[in-house]
Amino acid sequence: MPNAPAKIHAKPPFRAEHVGSLIRPRPLYEKRCELEEGKCSVEDLKEVEDDAVKHVVELQRSLGIRSITDGEVKKASFYDGVFEKLEGMVFMPARPLNEFKRYMPHIAMLYAAGLSSDATFYCNGKIKRTKPFYVDEFKALKKVVPPEEVKNIKINMCAPGWWHHRHGSDLSYDVNVYKNDSAYLSIRYILPLPDNSYIYRCLTIEKQLNSFDDLGAAYREEFEELYELGCRNIQLDDPVFAFFCYPPTTSGMKEAGEDPEALLDTYIYSINTCTKNRPKDLHVAVHICRGNYKGLHFCEGGYAPIAEKVFNELDVDSLFLEFDDERSGDFAPLKHVPLNKNVVLGLVTSKTSNLESLDELKKRVHEAATAMETPLRSKEAALNQLCISPQCGFASVWQGNPITEEDQKKKLELIVETAKQVWQDSE
Ligand SMILES: [Zn+2]
Repeated sequence: MPNAPAKIHAKPPFRAEHVGSLIRPRPLYEKRCELEEGKCSVEDLKEVEDDAVKHVVELQRSLGIRSITDGEVKKASFYDGVFEKLEGMVFMPARPLNEFKRYMPHIAMLYAAGLSSDATFYCNGKIKRTKPFYVDEFKALKKVVPPEEVKNIKINMCAPGWWHHRHGSDLSYDVNVYKNDSAYLSIRYILPLPDNSYIYRCLTIEKQLNSFDDLGAAYREEFEELYELGCRNIQLDDPVFAFFCYPPTTSGMKEAGEDPEALLDTYIYSINTCTKNRPKDLHVAVHICRGNYKGLHFCEGGYAPIAEKVFNELDVDSLFLEFDDERSGDFAPLKHVPLNKNVVLGLVTSKTSNLESLDELKKRVHEAATAMETPLRSKEAALNQLCISPQCGFASVWQGNPITEEDQKKKLELIVETAKQVWQDSE
């Protein structure tokens, strides 16, 4: 048969996946250092970035990684490219630290380090997408992959709750602009949904919130523009959900007068507002991250406290989850994954160069499938919902994790090989 066998897992998520960011190629890393030292301009950086994109695309294609990203090489941090493009969001280079929520684990680190302020974004006006987020990046990627692979290109963007979670519902936006979170998030989310349980939950939320409305609209406009250009694969990177699995954070929320369950609902809706009414053939994933900064993580604890709610209620197609070591907890929460979502198991650490064993990875994939078995789902069906990837990106900031490009390559090769050995439909 001239075409690929029908069995091939031909749409994202692919059996062998990766989260998105990649170690910056050396010339780009060095140029970034020069930029930091004031020895070159942003324009100088651009020339090196284009070469870096070609380099990382070639790397992924040569290894058989099919969700092609630009390695996020044009970003300094994973969250770049969204909020600075929005009217109504203002950059604050030094907001006093007492206006940040100390219960969030990475904010506690800033307090512990003795800092008095940090850079952030604040919403001081009505949010409007006046510039695209990643349209230029998508166009650049289109030029360096064959036309038949354009649909596989993956665009990563930070989740809508990224700045909000640092300041909470009281300090994220001007209350003269948005009365509360659902105006910022979107209470209109409830209207098109026919499902009664969703409607009930949304009405509960409506009482408490009122501010992500326009932010959701901005993301949807971005999704639409990318889709028009041929994009079919988007991933929202969200470190906020995992904080709800970390007992010091949830107890800190309660002490501060926050209701963790209500806040968790807020962040679920912040995502669903972005993904509602998306085209059926637009694959959207969420990466539920525990933090990734030069090899450091922010929190620990299994997904059990959020699994039932978050895995079911997020309106996305796939979940990229972290399971690389003991701080990730066990696979038991996977039993809550609904039948209509894929899980990409982040079994390979991106934080160190220690290379996992192929046999161990295969064993762990099967353990995950066994944990997903229920009266409604056989182990075989569970296995079909799974894929494998590194637990996180290799470089959520431009400096990257303490791992070489060569070690990164070995890890990606290992993932591709494991996928081939576990799933017959992995190319
Ligand atoms: Zn992560």
